[in-house]
Amino acid sequence: MYTFYYTFFKIYIGEYKIIIHTNYILYIKIKKIKIMKKLSIGITTLGCKVNQYETSQIIANLKSFGFSIVSTKEKADCYLINTCTVTAKSDAKSRNIIRRCIKYSDEHTPIFVTGCYATTNETDIMEIGDNIYVITNDKKNQIPSLIAKTLSQIDIITTNKNITASKDSKFKTRAFLKIQDGCNNYCSFCKVPFARGKPTSTPINEILNITNDYLSSGFKEIVLTGINVGLYQYENHDLIKLINEILSLEGNFRLRLSSIEPIHLTPDFIEILNNEKFCKHLHIPIQSGSNRILDLMNRKYSIEEIIDKIDNLNKYVDGLQITTDIMAGFPSENDKDFEDSCLLIERINFLHCHIFTYSERENTKSILIKPKINKKIMDDRANILYNISENVKSKIYRLQIGKIKRVLIESINNDISTGYSDDWFRCNIKGNFTVTNEFVITKVIDFSKNEKFTGNIMDYILNCEVLR
Ligand code: SF4
Repeated sequence: MYTFYYTFFKIYIGEYKIIIHTNYILYIKIKKIKIMKKLSIGITTLGCKVNQYETSQIIANLKSFGFSIVSTKEKADCYLINTCTVTAKSDAKSRNIIRRCIKYSDEHTPIFVTGCYATTNETDIMEIGDNIYVITNDKKNQIPSLIAKTLSQIDIITTNKNITASKDSKFKTRAFLKIQDGCNNYCSFCKVPFARGKPTSTPINEILNITNDYLSSGFKEIVLTGINVGLYQYENHDLIKLINEILSLEGNFRLRLSSIEPIHLTPDFIEILNNEKFCKHLHIPIQSGSNRILDLMNRKYSIEEIIDKIDNLNKYVDGLQITTDIMAGFPSENDKDFEDSCLLIERINFLHCHIFTYSERENTKSILIKPKINKKIMDDRANILYNISENVKSKIYRLQIGKIKRVLIESINNDISTGYSDDWFRCNIKGNFTVTNEFVITKVIDFSKNEKFTGNIMDYILNCEVLR
């Protein structure tokens, strides 16, 4: 009897793999193997729904190329920051995140910066550090391939297709669909037209195909997004025609519009809002309650017109909820202008107001408007507007008690199901009889406020019971 021991070891020399055995030496010519390490990318997105939507699309592509996605608060092989420039605060935040990434980087780590601030302030960004690659908004659709090429790890088939759809949503139930980009309205306070360029629209067939794809993947809510969706125009399709085509698609789903400018609010919305597939909620950014300020803002509508339009919608659409944006401290805003904004909030009864203070943006016309409002006065006005809007909000929540709402369940935690109603109320339903991504019909019992989310539309929650 004897025991046979296999003892060998391997070494690689150039193109050869050499096996040294106790009894023999074997060498094999090997093919060059490309070792592909799984790369990590730290990503942060600032700003609007369009930016968030575009990032989620980029993430979906990067994942398909094998990247693992992490936060910019940790060490990664490269970073991507999708910046925003809507206010001076957004610029500063964008710069701070780039600096944070530099802190986590070594001298070879590339930092890719895109979005509106990157598009309008390329030089400022390049000056922050080395290894920064600025990718302007018009090249956003090429970001995954540009990143991969820069890292020289993966052979990628580049696509010229626009970024249009994303299923990589953090909400499993809701899918965002970008139908439009750009704006040519040049409101005097807004830098977006410089960052996003002229209006462009996604072809109707592409939108319908993506919607069908979303629906067959199980999404129950589609949100149409864009920079100024009312400017949608593709061949003979405007926004109204497009919405009607989507609403005529088969399936158990609901459609939401992320925002609509007051000027694009037409009586056609009465029919659309009465379609049971369309959510009874509109976000209409009115910006100010003063005609004088609206004129200086180049907003092209009067408060009387917008009140008329909203009254008309309310007359024919039962249970419609409206949210808005109101700015405090636009240059030359006097006490009367400010009072007009306060009155507007109570007159319209907005479910939620996004209150913000004026911020001077380079190249915009409002820079020339004087006098500028002192920061303390701006902040005080914003506080007063916020308090009025919170009052109105709590009244609206109280009025919901006893009402019937259709809720799309997004999550279930400890016997409490949570989701949004068609009219944009966050709802909690007690009991273990719902499943996620299903519509349930509920009755509102009462409401509560979560102090943790103060100032957010989610700070109030309707407590409901399931009817069916
Ligand atoms: S409509 Fe006015 S505020 Fe809105 S993106 Fe265009 S320029 Fe900016």
